[in-house]
Amino acid sequence: MTRPFPRAAARALPKAELHVHLEGSVDPTTMLSLAERHGVSPPAPDEAGLRGWLHFDGFPDFLERYFWICGLLRDRDDFALIADTYLRSAHAQGVVHVEFHVSSSYHIVEREADWSEILGGIVEGCDRAEAETGISSLLIPDLSPHLGAAAAHRALDVVLAERDPRVIAVGMGGPSDNWPEEDFASAFVRVRDAGLHTVSHAGEHGPAWEVRHAVEEFGAERIQHGIGAMDDPAVVALLVERGIACDVCPASNVALAAVPSIDVHPLPAMLDAGITVTLGSDDPPLFATDLLAEYEHAWNLCGLDEAGLRALAENSLVESFADRARIDGWRAAGSGGNES
Ligand SMILES: [Zn+2]
Repeated sequence: MTRPFPRAAARALPKAELHVHLEGSVDPTTMLSLAERHGVSPPAPDEAGLRGWLHFDGFPDFLERYFWICGLLRDRDDFALIADTYLRSAHAQGVVHVEFHVSSSYHIVEREADWSEILGGIVEGCDRAEAETGISSLLIPDLSPHLGAAAAHRALDVVLAERDPRVIAVGMGGPSDNWPEEDFASAFVRVRDAGLHTVSHAGEHGPAWEVRHAVEEFGAERIQHGIGAMDDPAVVALLVERGIACDVCPASNVALAAVPSIDVHPLPAMLDAGITVTLGSDDPPLFATDLLAEYEHAWNLCGLDEAGLRALAENSLVESFADRARIDGWRAAGSGGNES
């Protein structure tokens, strides 16, 4: 009954990936080489073992793995390597543009690392991948709410002082336990005053009000996940009326138990409601996914045809923060059916 996913046609569509975390994009081969470089004993000796280890059980397990990977990222070369490596893998899936979320609060506040070295490394990796494959990329430093508003401002001080042109937006990178009590809105005022875009994770495990709060208080232009919006028609209407896209990651939502199984993922309802959706892989090796697998989930869940796949790819280009001229070029290439 399930129709075969037209993988080659999906790969050939020019598309952007707007919801992927740089630190969560590191594949097992790169993890092993970073562990060796830094004299760290890996939790498994080879790639297959590491893939098994990455299959986590529950959120604390996920965080343990995520932060083990973060602990391997120490110098400029590490960041250049992981950005370059992920962009090549995205390019192989027909991705023409990536917007990397980067955990800036973690690096700047929690680790007290040198952000200019980190940013320099990431930009070097992006430049290298672009020179060799043509893939475009931009950066979205994320603020972590669990550290509090004062720490968000501290991270932002550093992020705004380093104005590499690849930094295009600032995001909110975590759940809302303290959103109402703390003044994060003023951080996003600073972001906009600096001429950057604003985005926010919201409505992943949390309820619809998170999504409204992100839009109204943070001025979020795109929402990462946003699936919780479906519990409140007024929030759905807000997203539709303002044309705010949700960057949805079905495999991540299942792996982190935001939805009980892929069969009941709200993606079809989001599309039916008229919400603009783009697909992302979030932290792909941790969720045993990649962007084409997310298109396959959408194909199966929503009963899409190839025009439906094309519409999702188009959304990702149109909703990206890339230059209009580049977006127009990618869209023209897509409507001709050729890989750009
Ligand atoms: Zn995310």
